Amino acid sequence: MLARYAAHDEKTRGRRYPEAPPQYRGEFQRDRDRIVHSGAFRRLVYKTQVFVNHEGDMYRTRLTHSMEVAQIGRSIALALNLNEALTEAICLAHDLGHTPFGHAGQDALNDCMREHGGFEHNLQSLRVVDELEDRYAEFPGLNLTFECREGILKHCSAANARKLGDIGLRFLERRQPGLEAQIANLADEVAYNNHDVDDGLRAGLIELSDLREVPMFARQLLIVEKKYPDINDRRLIHEVVRRMINGIVVDLIERSSALLRDADPVDINAVRMNDGPLIQMSDALWAEHLELKRFLRERLYRHYRVQRMTRKARTVVTDLYRAFMEDSMLLPDEHRAVVQRLAGEHGEAGRARAVADYVAGMTDRYAIGEHERIFVPGQRS
Ligand code: MG
Repeated sequence: MLARYAAHDEKTRGRRYPEAPPQYRGEFQRDRDRIVHSGAFRRLVYKTQVFVNHEGDMYRTRLTHSMEVAQIGRSIALALNLNEALTEAICLAHDLGHTPFGHAGQDALNDCMREHGGFEHNLQSLRVVDELEDRYAEFPGLNLTFECREGILKHCSAANARKLGDIGLRFLERRQPGLEAQIANLADEVAYNNHDVDDGLRAGLIELSDLREVPMFARQLLIVEKKYPDINDRRLIHEVVRRMINGIVVDLIERSSALLRDADPVDINAVRMNDGPLIQMSDALWAEHLELKRFLRERLYRHYRVQRMTRKARTVVTDLYRAFMEDSMLLPDEHRAVVQRLAGEHGEAGRARAVADYVAGMTDRYAIGEHERIFVPGQRS
């Protein structure tokens, strides 16, 4: 039984293009299924989190990241009697708009687009599901429900919010999204913090001894070392990471249950009108979570080996963007037609947006290949 403040399929605010309800699925199950069948979802397998895809097969990609987020999100949604299918759909879609090469790619593309409204991967995720997926006869995009789109759009500038209509309104009125969206947002943070610890250790960029200064890690490490004094490092790391995730999820469920009990919202609209989010960690754990983030920022994301990947990523994305802006004859026919159409409709800004859409849609390896084909003499074109 779903809580009254959950998102209920039969009370959805609907789709941009009205459709008959699905036969044997709920509305949000249909959203999830459309996301899984989308082209952008399949490309996540070759898109980077922190480590460039071809530098090692053991690391997370955006696809495995999205699945881990969904896993964590579903556990929390189920425990709180919230809508599991909607939570899963939002989690699986949250990174669809990511450029190749993770944040390095997004920052480079944002710099390129500075005079044309910038580039923001989260907004791009909404653009992918609203506009760019080109598969259905009767509408552009995936025509997802309002609740799912509301969850995908996590943050948004006031200027962009004004252009987005109903979905942007909450950023202007400072309202909350539904609880399923709030879960997806935190599940994302929990997932990437923990798997970056895991990937960072495996890549040899951080050491177990460094992590002893991080309280959330150190606490679980002591427990595991005491219980299994002879355990090898691989098992030790996994035992610690899984305990960290479990600890956070349990804390999140308990803290959010208490908040929901106190606020007692009558429905999803009361959740939206509430002063703050109702899905939260306890203050103590949130402080530890932020400390772990700080550690990762200083020791992992700023590691020189990560910086070298970042540098290369920047070059590839910037070079491709500039080349396509200067000479649209370099674009494959299908994409050149889109660039010409948007340039005809919106001038230079339209041209830039279409080029950014094309570059953002690339996987790491496609971007690297395209860069070689355009810039490296002797490469097959
Ligand atoms: Mg993410």
